[in-house]
This record gives sequence, structure tokens and C-alpha cells, in this order.
Amino acid sequence: MALNLYNYLTRRKEPFRPLSEGRVGLYTCGPTVYNYAHIGNLRTYIFEDILRRTLAFSGYAVRQVMNLTDVDDKTIRGAKHSGKTLRAFTEFYAREFFKDVRRLNILPAWKYPRATRHVQDMVRLISILLKRRLAYQTRDGVYFDISRFRPYGKLSRVKTRELKVGVRVAADEYSKAEAGDFALWKAQKPGEPSWSAPFGRGRPGWHIECSAMSMKYLGPSFDIHAGGVDLLFPHHEDEIAQSQGATGKPFVRYFVEGEHLLVDGKKMAKSLGNVYRLADLEKKGSGPLDFRYFVLGAHYRTPLNFTWKALGAARAARAKIMTALGDLKTHKGKSSLADENEVLKVIAYSERQFRSAIEDDLNIPKALAVLNELIHYANALNARGRLSSSSGRMMLAAVKEFDRVLGLDLLRVEKLAIPKR
Ligand code: AMP
Ligand code: ZN
Repeated sequence: MALNLYNYLTRRKEPFRPLSEGRVGLYTCGPTVYNYAHIGNLRTYIFEDILRRTLAFSGYAVRQVMNLTDVDDKTIRGAKHSGKTLRAFTEFYAREFFKDVRRLNILPAWKYPRATRHVQDMVRLISILLKRRLAYQTRDGVYFDISRFRPYGKLSRVKTRELKVGVRVAADEYSKAEAGDFALWKAQKPGEPSWSAPFGRGRPGWHIECSAMSMKYLGPSFDIHAGGVDLLFPHHEDEIAQSQGATGKPFVRYFVEGEHLLVDGKKMAKSLGNVYRLADLEKKGSGPLDFRYFVLGAHYRTPLNFTWKALGAARAARAKIMTALGDLKTHKGKSSLADENEVLKVIAYSERQFRSAIEDDLNIPKALAVLNELIHYANALNARGRLSSSSGRMMLAAVKEFDRVLGLDLLRVEKLAIPKR
């Protein structure tokens, strides 16, 4: 079986076929560095890491690009409030983001371009859109004219009649109800950072950065674009319009979007006091990999509800696995030839099951079940003194393979807080 992915462009699971054999260009929308990443953001980054690891497991050389949004409405507002320069303000949160990434075993991307260092690429792109009359200039900036781009709305399935042709939205974030011409460039305002451009000093809108930076590093057409579902509209829709509008070439082949994390059944919000970050989980005794295990327990296309109880259950389940794997390392049993043959068969079966699970649109909950079954089997054999060192080693080798995708550090047997029974 080949890798199948749910593609939001067609709203179907499709076999994955890369543009050039053996390689994948993957663009994942990164953080807006105006605050610490919350556990919802982290769920999305873990899902993207699983996507990337699965592609690698399937034999592809993956080039992942993840942007850092270090200039937009939110970062400018944040810097102003803190009294810091935009640069100092955003660099602090960028560093914090990289710390979280490392601790969650998220593999580093090939490139982490920052918006402020690619403004000239965005200016060039906007100039092309102006020349092609897909954009127009007003007193407060440059806007994309959605009425001039026929496929607008195809990805998010916003109907033409819902689109407010001729209505302009200046905000970086807006809803379907406001869908209209969106800002590519915002004319300079007093006290705001600005760059020079042929169409006047100002700063880029949010959407243009992802078009400019993805195409700069991955080319005008690339394989996969990922993010959280909230980005489907307007962000990814606008990216398609900008990129395809400028190059005349198809932009991205597969849009893969992860569902949100909820907290106690609700959207995370400052007003509800339920916006958690990794440090908050640690204060209550759960580490980054406990959270990762918790996230892997749900398919990326189903909303996941965070509760302290569910996190505790994930922590206990991971501890149990780690303990069992520790025991496997100290196997001293003797096995017959029949036992050895059976072990080989069980491992081969597990490997097939594991692969077909992950290749079926990243069915990680199923893959985790396969892992747990294999460990359960090995434990039972071990308990009866029938697990030889060679069988034990083969088991651990299989687990190590699985961990290339899961990224749970399964073979690093730690001193666990939970006592061994
Ligand atoms: P932001 O830093 O707001 O640009 O968001 C970074 C990433 O986190 C984007 O891919 C969002 O789609 C994603 N995201 C935001 N909120 C949540 C949430 N509650 N659950 C999962 N992903 C989220
Ligand atoms: Zn983006």
C-alpha cells in the first residue's frame, strides 16, 4: 500500500504522489511569535512532525519549511505593550518556540524563514500581482482583488455569493462573513515598523509572507501544505490566490489540515483561563513526551479534548510502556526454535500493521495500538521465561523502527517517577 492523505482540495483521501520522485516539499505554517506556544499550537506542530516522519518512513527525502511570523498585527501590538523593539520582542518567543520543539521531539525543519527577513521577496510578489491587475493600490495599502481570481474560494468552499466583492478587509485575521479583498501591504502608520516599496512605505499583510517564503524555498509548485484547520480560511485560501495569481502555476498539490485541541470541551481563551503551555503541564507533573503521547492518541482529523485526567492517563500509559521496554532489555529467558519462529512472525505482522496504519492518512492511534500489542506479547513471553536475548533484541529493533515515526524516545529508558511494580 502507498501513503494516503486526506486532501482538503478534493475533500477526499488520495494516494500521495510527489511532484518529483522520492522527494517531498512540505510547507507548514509556523508560529506567530508574540506569545508562548499553547498546547493547541503544539498539537498542530506534533501532527506536522508525524506527517513529516511518516513521509521519511515511506522513503521520501523531505524538505520542510516552517515560517516564523515576526511582523503582523499581533506582534506589533505585543511589542508596543512590552516597550521592546519588535525584534527583541519576537526573538524571545522564537527561542521559547524552539525550546518546546526540541523537548517534544519534533524534528527541526530544513528552514525556518522569518517574515521580517523576506520583505523584499514579498514586495516583488506584490509588484507582480499589481502588474497583473490582481491587486490594486489604495491610500492605506495594496489589496488583492478577489473578483479577478476566479478560483477564489475553492479550497475553503466559500461560495462566490458569500464573497463581498469590492469590500476590503485590512485585518490579518477575518471570518468568512467578512470575506473580501484582503491586504497584501499596509501603508505605514506612525509608530509601526515599515519597509520601503515601489508602492510606498509600509509592511506586509500576514498572508503574503507564506506565499513568498514557501515559493522561495520550495519552488512555485510544491507537494504538501499543512497547518491547523483554522488556517483553511482565509489564510490558505489567500495564499493560493497570491501564489497562483502571480505564477500562473498550480501552487500546492495537497492541503493537509489538523483539527483543533479543546480544553474541557471549550475553545482555549484567555478569558476562560484555560490557555495552557508546556510549563503548566510540567508544574502538574507531566513531561513534554507525556503530552506528545496524549496527542498521538487521537487521529489528527478529529478534535481532541484536553483534560488533566486524560493527560494523566496518557502519562501512565507511557510509563507502562517504558517500564515494559526496560524489562525487555533484561530478558534472560530461553526460547525454543518454535518460540523464535513465532516471534519472527509476530514482528513481521506488527510491522505490516504499523505501516498500513500510518499510511492510511496517519492513523497513529492504530499504530500505537500495534505497538502496545507487540509489547504486551513480548512481556507475556518474558514473564514465562521464554524470551531469548536474540528475540528480545529483535523486538526492540522493531520498536526502534516504530519510534522513527512516533518520536517518543521509546528506547531511552528513563528513571520514571512512577515506581515499578
Ligand atoms: P498561530 O501562532 O496562532 O499562527 O498558530 C500556529 C498554529 O497553531 C497554526 O497552525 C494554527 O492553526 C494552530 N492552532 C491554533 N490554535 C489551535 C488549537 N486550539 N488547536 C490546534 N491547533 C491550533
Ligand atoms: Zn502560513
